[in-house]
Amino acid sequence: MNKITIAIDGFSSTGKSTLAKQLAKKLEYVYVDTGAMYRAVTLYAMENGFVEDGQIDKDGLIKDLDSIVLKFVFNPHLGFAEMYLNDENVERKIRTLDVSKNVSQVAEIKEVRTRLVALQQDMGKDKGVVMDGRDIGTVVFPEAELKIFMTASPEKRAVRRYKELLDRGEDITYADILENVQKRDYIDSHRETSPLTKAEGAIEFDNSDMGLVQQFERIYEHVLRVIEKNQ
Ligand code: C5P
Repeated sequence: MNKITIAIDGFSSTGKSTLAKQLAKKLEYVYVDTGAMYRAVTLYAMENGFVEDGQIDKDGLIKDLDSIVLKFVFNPHLGFAEMYLNDENVERKIRTLDVSKNVSQVAEIKEVRTRLVALQQDMGKDKGVVMDGRDIGTVVFPEAELKIFMTASPEKRAVRRYKELLDRGEDITYADILENVQKRDYIDSHRETSPLTKAEGAIEFDNSDMGLVQQFERIYEHVLRVIEKNQ
């Protein structure tokens, strides 16, 4: 069977990674969480003195990009790959609200994007990949056979993210999360380099009022049709 490339883009906390993981598992494809890569670079910036009072020292970080080695390592117990930054498993550290507060500023930096996009294109060069992010259907794989653009209301998304972080024991408020989700949406959609937009040919999917099972069934049917068309 010919494998295809599945590009999933959309706003923060729209359930992109949940859907991407489900699809990759079912199809036996590789899943790549590109947000984790931007988060890992952000963590590096925070741990190495390039972030002060919410401001990024962009020139300093650009000069240090060669010292940042990112790797995904598959964890068979979890069933997906975890993010390693310079050989440290940073999967937990990159999901905090502190990293979320800085990540969109780091993701605006052209040099960071150029480097990460090249890595992502290499990871998907053999197809059979489900990749999620903000620019996958527009920049990383504009030729992807299937592009999905996910949306949901900011309030629904903030509730989901709030519950997730509470479960992980973070000390946060719903208002903080809603503010962060809206701020990231704004920066991600208005930045100069590859802003978040719906890619040409992408199918839009609003899951504000849909459960995970229903969402997966609807999309999986569509995926199978696209795979069949590409044989
Ligand atoms: O997907 P996630 O919410 O983990 O992404 C974190 C941030 O990384 C986004 O808010 C965005 O600023 C940035 N990002 C990006 N391009 C991607 C993936 C993520 O700019 N392909």
